[in-house]
Amino acid sequence: MTPGTAEKRWIVGVDLGGTNIVVGLLPIQGGDVLGFRTQPTESQRGARFVVNRIVQMVEEAIAEVTAEAGTTRHAVAGVGIGSPGPLDRKTGTVINTPNLGWRNFPLRDLIANAVKLPCTLDNDANCATYGEWWLGAGRGTQQLVGLTLGTGIGGGVVLNGEIYHGASDVAGEIGHMTIDSNGRRCKCGNYGCLEQYASGPAIAERAVEGLESGAVSMLTEMVDGKLELITAATVYEAAVLSDAYATEVMRDTARFLGAGVANIINILNPEMVVVAGGVTRAGEHLFEPLRAEVRRRAFRSAQEICRIVSGELPGTAGVVGAAAVFKRENYGHV
Ligand SMILES: [Zn+2]
Repeated sequence: MTPGTAEKRWIVGVDLGGTNIVVGLLPIQGGDVLGFRTQPTESQRGARFVVNRIVQMVEEAIAEVTAEAGTTRHAVAGVGIGSPGPLDRKTGTVINTPNLGWRNFPLRDLIANAVKLPCTLDNDANCATYGEWWLGAGRGTQQLVGLTLGTGIGGGVVLNGEIYHGASDVAGEIGHMTIDSNGRRCKCGNYGCLEQYASGPAIAERAVEGLESGAVSMLTEMVDGKLELITAATVYEAAVLSDAYATEVMRDTARFLGAGVANIINILNPEMVVVAGGVTRAGEHLFEPLRAEVRRRAFRSAQEICRIVSGELPGTAGVVGAAAVFKRENYGHV
């Protein structure tokens, strides 16, 4: 081996979210996340602060993993970054992200210049789906659709081993599928988006609305009557404890999701739909009615082939997928 061309062994994955930044190293051939670390994003402190924090976390993770392996940073191939979008992958620019308050922000190159490694940029929800496809629930599938239920609903589509980006990098915005044409107003400007019914805050909001109009439930006691403290987690905890009203709210959530998933299945005919995020801790309280709703709505041969499963990489899917995007773009395969 000639000097300066040390064998590349790892790719850094960065998952930038509105709340937390997560960083870790992936062996190029796949494996466990190494040097894992997470810190709050604190976007209110400004874009420069966030970039500096990412750079610092990347450098620390590289130092930790390479020291442990007795090698140097030359063994790191580069950095895959997942960020909220919309974004322009070619220029590595975040076009607009309400959660971080950024506009036309050259995130990829700022990080690449600071860490002096090649970097790639893709949408965070695409990365989470790609992570599940590479090393999680979707291993070995050809067509995979991912949904991440959190503050919003992120989506991603993998076709024949590649993220499907569409004509202008917008593909996969499953959370903004209209499921009620006269429905709730969404912050994207549309009405009746899936996200307004099945995201964490939307679940809590629907639960509180029912309680305010007289529903009886242990939820009220769980928050000492302070209904504004109810979160999606409170709702699925009560459902797991067999509270009838909370179970009904989870069933409604599953029906909304089922309508969305049935639409996806009829359009893309995927082998698998992976549903990830905190809400999936409700387990069968979510998945059983979700699958039933899909059976009622989708074409039979499409829903029979499609497995609807929970994600296998909670907390790391975004990092794994960001590294997979880097590998795909630099090695031509994952
Ligand atoms: Zn929307």
